[in-house]
Amino acid sequence: MSQDTIFTKIINREIPADIVYEDDLALAFKDINPQAPVHLLIIPKQPIATTNDIQKSDREIVGHLFWVASEIAREQGFAENGYRTVMNCNEDGGQTVYHIHVHLLAGKPLGWPPYQERLKT
Ligand code: AMP
Repeated sequence: MSQDTIFTKIINREIPADIVYEDDLALAFKDINPQAPVHLLIIPKQPIATTNDIQKSDREIVGHLFWVASEIAREQGFAENGYRTVMNCNEDGGQTVYHIHVHLLAGKPLGWPPYQERLKT
């Protein structure tokens, strides 16, 4: 299901991306539609469609994504000021690319909650 997403094409260098980090397990690149001064996406090279599809055997890779986030934050100098990591799942979570990814947002004070929920009356 997740084999042919745009992120697989970025991993395979079939389409361009502004890559900021790469290792054997993960790739990080700038989001094409940034929602903060720093907005990076950290993805596993192994495609996993949604967080619902994470298996127990994927614990190392998923944990690694968050380690990469903290490493980038240190390297780019915003670890102390702070940042946000987000993973969206499926339609209600706002997921649009079905290859799991950690959004890494930083560079300004980020509001919370991150959305204005419209309550049905
Ligand atoms: P999500 O909505 O959580 O699935 O996040 C997908 C993210 O991928 C969005 O923030 C998009 O702006 C971003 N995106 C989509 N296509 C590209 C691309 N070619 N290069 C970089 N970011 C992309």
